[in-house]
Amino acid sequence: DSTLQPAYLAKLNDQQRLAVEHGDGRIAGPLLVIAGAGSGKTNTLAHRVAHLIVRGADPRRILLMTFSRRAASEMAKRVERIAGEVLGRDAAVITDALTWAGTFHGIGARLLRDYALEIGLDPAFTIHDREDSADLMNLARHDLGLSKTEARFPTKGTCLAIYSRAVNAQAPLNEVLGSVFPWCSGWAEELKQLFAAYVEAKQAQNVLDYDDLLLYWAQMAAEPEIAGHLGERFDHVLVDEYQDTNRLQASILLALKPDGAGLTVVGDDAQSIYSFRAAEVRNILDFPRQFARPAEIVLLERNYRSTETILAAANAVIDGASERFTKNLWSDRKSLRKPELVTVRDEADQANYVCQAILAEREAGTALKSQAVLFRASHHSGPLEIELTRRNIPFVKFGGLKFLDAAHVKDVLAVLRFAENPRDRVAGFRVLQLLPGIGPSAATAIVESMASALDETMGLARYRPPQRAADDWPGFVDMFSQLRAGSGKWPADLEQVRLWYEPHLERMHEDATTRRADLLQLEQIASGYASRERFLTELTLDRPDATSDQAGPPHLDEDYLILSTIHSAKGQEWKNVFVLNTVDGCIPIDLGVGSKDEIDEERRLLYVAMTRAKDGLQMVMPQRFFVHGQAARGDRHVYASRTRFIPASILGAFEQTTWPIAQLAEGRSPRPEIRVDIGARMRGMWK
Ligand code: ATP
Ligand code: MG
Repeated sequence: DSTLQPAYLAKLNDQQRLAVEHGDGRIAGPLLVIAGAGSGKTNTLAHRVAHLIVRGADPRRILLMTFSRRAASEMAKRVERIAGEVLGRDAAVITDALTWAGTFHGIGARLLRDYALEIGLDPAFTIHDREDSADLMNLARHDLGLSKTEARFPTKGTCLAIYSRAVNAQAPLNEVLGSVFPWCSGWAEELKQLFAAYVEAKQAQNVLDYDDLLLYWAQMAAEPEIAGHLGERFDHVLVDEYQDTNRLQASILLALKPDGAGLTVVGDDAQSIYSFRAAEVRNILDFPRQFARPAEIVLLERNYRSTETILAAANAVIDGASERFTKNLWSDRKSLRKPELVTVRDEADQANYVCQAILAEREAGTALKSQAVLFRASHHSGPLEIELTRRNIPFVKFGGLKFLDAAHVKDVLAVLRFAENPRDRVAGFRVLQLLPGIGPSAATAIVESMASALDETMGLARYRPPQRAADDWPGFVDMFSQLRAGSGKWPADLEQVRLWYEPHLERMHEDATTRRADLLQLEQIASGYASRERFLTELTLDRPDATSDQAGPPHLDEDYLILSTIHSAKGQEWKNVFVLNTVDGCIPIDLGVGSKDEIDEERRLLYVAMTRAKDGLQMVMPQRFFVHGQAARGDRHVYASRTRFIPASILGAFEQTTWPIAQLAEGRSPRPEIRVDIGARMRGMWK
């Protein structure tokens, strides 16, 4: 009886409805939705969650995992809108109860804190970001004498990458070395020793790195005593962008739901772009046969996002891929406008061109917010950011508040982390050495004094500082003990740290005023988090977005342009999309040195970028671009040619233009690269 069907179901196509109604609100067998970009996978997932709730599922028992925190909160909003059609005002209450929506890492951190005592973890653990992890790896390297005796031993960053790869791929070290880091194969024994020491150091200091959040979770979920409890906690487990999960994440899902009951995953193998983090396309392809009862598979065929012409061009690009499961989609959105390939002279012209085109689109009625500029690597947007700032065009850059990397911000965060977990040595060493008169050896003595005392604060108070530090010492001990005692006063804690830190800031830096402004902005951000622990955890796992506006994130009603790496643009869509540096050497990022698999992944990246566009797509090709110094060769300009993913045979799918038209038509050649310092030569003549 169609009158009993909620109205939102009528807006879906048959396949989508099949996925939404699978089990019709009850816990059902495993479900896989696999389909191309813009076919409504995420939309279907949101409808499925809403439908479960409308049919009476408990939102607190729904686990929803997306690729970013932003995606999770957007999904929650969508669920509220959809369920609201039936539930009216109650929908808001229900989405508030959808508390288990987040990323794999974020959810892992929460569950691990929750079960910490059951698995022998101290619940006050802190989380190391990649840089902290590399620092700790470096300490371990030094302790083992691997950096001194062996100058050619892999760098801390490479060591961490090898370790991370082995953990995430769940593969033996030798295999990882052989296939991904062959130039390090000779160090297998030393690396094993190093990783053992690294793991011990993490445990002694009660810190977890990113990989641990998945690794410990997977281990915990496989523990028979806990597995049942954990699995029963959630009736429904749903995962978006499943093509970008790795072996460890797949094993977590399998441990949570061994029979696949209540499990839904959606994804697109043609958009798999995270193999450098050991993501496995096989996860999604193997999903259906993983369980005793076969999974229901839903394929979607229609693209609702892009015009026919954009889709045709994107399909042409991905058709060149060697292997692919999902089929090409169709769209009935007619358009006379083909995607454009715009040739410009260099990156400065590219920035100018993009600004001008964006403003023209805005004149024509497309808000900045409906436009995005995408690029392969974060630093590719540098010249554009400068030009946007110069022209007062507000923008938000996804996934990277740069000031979080600034020394003063890291100092303050380290104080909070040290108070949260006094065993965290990377944080402790950073904090203690802020005090004048305290260097590495005094810091070591302090940390040891703290570790040997029953209570860290007592251990700190009992330490006798060197004469030079005597003046500052009581103030530090005082602040630390207050932070230890009252972790309930959030975000006042942060203000307290700033007040303590300001004199040191003034002593160490000439531009203390601007740095202080950063700290005030940090306080602003902090007020959006419920507690110190949540703030530290989430800031470490998923950075807030950066804006061009010094005063903080733009208000919701303000208009701003989106800048994003292609990786961070996953799952999103805009009316107009610009892709920067669509040239060989930028995408693919390497000029032909990548393996076939790597090059295939770059092709999928370009496909992801192109399929973000709804109505307008412009791909810009500077005739030369800037390369940041690689070892001996240094910074230099490189002459560029159109990306190999758009061969001549598919050029017909694009409109080709050049800008600025007059100058290029004149055939003006780019300026020569040779730089001579004639002044120096003159001086030299008289030496
Ligand atoms: P991606 O692979 O890029 O993540 P996706 O498959 O998740 O894409 P969605 O983002 O869910 O696709 O949907 C793409 C667009 O199509 C959205 O604007 C969505 O609202 C719209 N859409 C999806 N399904 C329908 C439908 N049945 N009717 C109308 N519009 C739809
Ligand atoms: Mg999606």
